[in-house]
Amino acid sequence: MMQFYSTNNKNKKFSLEEAVMEGLAKDGGLFMPEHIPQVPESFLKNIHTLNFPDMCFQIAQNLLQDAIPLLKLREIIDKAMIFDAPVRELSAQIHSLELFHGPTLSFKDFGAQFMAQLMAYFIQDSKQTLHILVATSGDTGSAIAQAFLNVEGIRVWILYPKDKVSWSQEKQLTTMGHNITALEIDGTFDDCQRLVKQAFSDKRLRQKLSLTSANSINIARLIPQTFYYFYAYVQVTNRNAPLVFSVPSGNFGNLTAGLLAKKMGLPVHHFVAATNINDIVPKYLNTGKFEALPSKQTLSNAMDVGNPSNFSRMLDLFGNHENMREHIFACSFTDDQTKAAMKTVFEKYDYLMDPHGAVAYLGLEAYLVQHPGKVNGIFLETADPAKFADEVEKITGQKVEIPNRLATVLSKKKHAVTLAPDYEEFCSLLLKA
Ligand SMILES: *Cc1c(COP(=O)(O)O)cnc(C)c1O
Repeated sequence: MMQFYSTNNKNKKFSLEEAVMEGLAKDGGLFMPEHIPQVPESFLKNIHTLNFPDMCFQIAQNLLQDAIPLLKLREIIDKAMIFDAPVRELSAQIHSLELFHGPTLSFKDFGAQFMAQLMAYFIQDSKQTLHILVATSGDTGSAIAQAFLNVEGIRVWILYPKDKVSWSQEKQLTTMGHNITALEIDGTFDDCQRLVKQAFSDKRLRQKLSLTSANSINIARLIPQTFYYFYAYVQVTNRNAPLVFSVPSGNFGNLTAGLLAKKMGLPVHHFVAATNINDIVPKYLNTGKFEALPSKQTLSNAMDVGNPSNFSRMLDLFGNHENMREHIFACSFTDDQTKAAMKTVFEKYDYLMDPHGAVAYLGLEAYLVQHPGKVNGIFLETADPAKFADEVEKITGQKVEIPNRLATVLSKKKHAVTLAPDYEEFCSLLLKA
């Protein structure tokens, strides 16, 4: 049986259900699989004959073993992995892995959809409604809301800071209805997070309500993110050159998933950790010192993280600084560099990037300069440029097409409950539900 441990204590083991439903271990650590089995050699040999869902199923089955009945696992994959992750070739060395073809146009849809299906499976026999609390500064909230929309037995509460998310993000958060309630908090993102944390530590509330969180530390979000690294590998034509992935990083969940894929046997030569000026991890790799800082606002705002939550998983995988340095090339970029890259890539390759993908592109470019030679370079394009249409148009001069699934949401009416950043008010609202 595949079990999990907390990064703070390797001796105590947890089931997949405990790891997924608890999210964060009670000792404050993050859950990790007790071992990471290699995929069979035959799988890698025949991987190009598999379609994406079949590939996902085999990878998940190999990792989770008998933690979920196979038929159920297949059902979960078939419900969750319903959009493509195509690779676009910009040049022989540079490819974009487009991870934004899901319902809310960011790569977070992969993790959210899989986690929703997994949670729905675990609560299927429970009589109590499960309440999911999410504090969001944008992308996470909409991916979670969309993934849990109309999932039976689950009620979702999204807390977002009033006037501090973009207009289109707000529409994505507030137009779902059904089992999704948007709470517009008259305060900051930190207030939203504080309210959620307080609810989790409120014993009285937890006796009455079954609560869970859905943030990026949940292991259920990392598992499906390993799939597309394999899928990208299949799509790059020249498979003999070393494979390099450049990952635009904030909390480092996406990069950690890539590290897991490599442990499973995907032949990755190097990872590039690309950040904006919130450069905690690049600094750590250069100096050996990890120093969390307040986050700074940038153009690639989903990566404005001052204390990357998945860092403890990265340390757990590598054991020490030296080892991590050997496998990860890290660099950080300013907004001006990001904008210049968006413009250059559009002019040179006729390809539009969003600001997050542009940071990853810059990371790959920096890697190629320092490591000349033939490689298959792939940068992860984590959001649709349409999510940042105003900026992208201003920078490139090119009109951005708004996909239908976003246009539909933008035309819907906003429904949100406005709340002061006050715990008593928030708590009584939850109890009335
Ligand atoms: C969340 C997010 C990231 C950062 O991903 P992490 O897993 O937190 O490192 C990058 N790009 C976009 C568009 C995001 O929404």
